[in-house]
Amino acid sequence: MIRSRPARINLFCCFCRQRLLNRIQEIMNYHLQSYTRKVDELLRSAGAVCEVYGEVDGHKLKGYDLIRADLPIVYISTGMHGDEPGGPEALLSLLENGLLDRQLSFYICPMLNPTGFAKGTRENASGNDMNRDYFHQLNPEVRDHVKWLENRNPDLFISLHEDWESGGFYFYEINTCGDIPERYEFMAEKIAEVMVLEAEQVIDDHEVRRRGWIYHEAEADVMDHWPEAIYMAKKDCTLSFTFESPSALAMRHRVAAQSAAVNSLLDFMYG
Ligand SMILES: [Zn+2]
Repeated sequence: MIRSRPARINLFCCFCRQRLLNRIQEIMNYHLQSYTRKVDELLRSAGAVCEVYGEVDGHKLKGYDLIRADLPIVYISTGMHGDEPGGPEALLSLLENGLLDRQLSFYICPMLNPTGFAKGTRENASGNDMNRDYFHQLNPEVRDHVKWLENRNPDLFISLHEDWESGGFYFYEINTCGDIPERYEFMAEKIAEVMVLEAEQVIDDHEVRRRGWIYHEAEADVMDHWPEAIYMAKKDCTLSFTFESPSALAMRHRVAAQSAAVNSLLDFMYG
């Protein structure tokens, strides 16, 4: 989720949520290395170049470039919040299912917050929500990530997140390059084939434009608490989507919904 919210109904009591978090922590400790290795193999075998842009608690922070001359550049990031494993799992599935075969260039950051992911916590190991730090850049992971992004100017930014409090899929769009409502129609139809879109009229304190669609201005909700999406908008990336799958549902459904969202967006924009 892009920002914290105080007042929506929580699907879990504290005890159940903690048990789930403990379970995620066990699973993620086991899978973090395997995920990193698989993603690395898939990206490199497609010709992507890896850059280690930082290191935190023994975890390398990696960004990948797959640049094909004159093709639009799509930047995908995930793993910002360590209790949202559906994003990385969806990226892995997308890579296994031909994402890089598209006639596009890519920047990919598959694991922004490895210490949070290893612990199964939203925050990094220092206890900070990195997705509020893209203005001040106080966390080394964020600072190093911003440095990596400095000379990269994608045409489209996609970030994969999850939401503990929603019952359906939803997404944010930040658009400074021209409103295209037909794109929402196309994507919503494809996503709805695999997962219901969130029905709430107000999601994460934002009134939806249509079901499951938050059309967000290119400004942070809290002035100097920039998430990555606002940072990207400020550095002139004119179109971004943040996809949010509901953590309460089975992983295979969340992966299917995230994949449908990414693929329908890329299909609509680039064929
Ligand atoms: Zn998130």
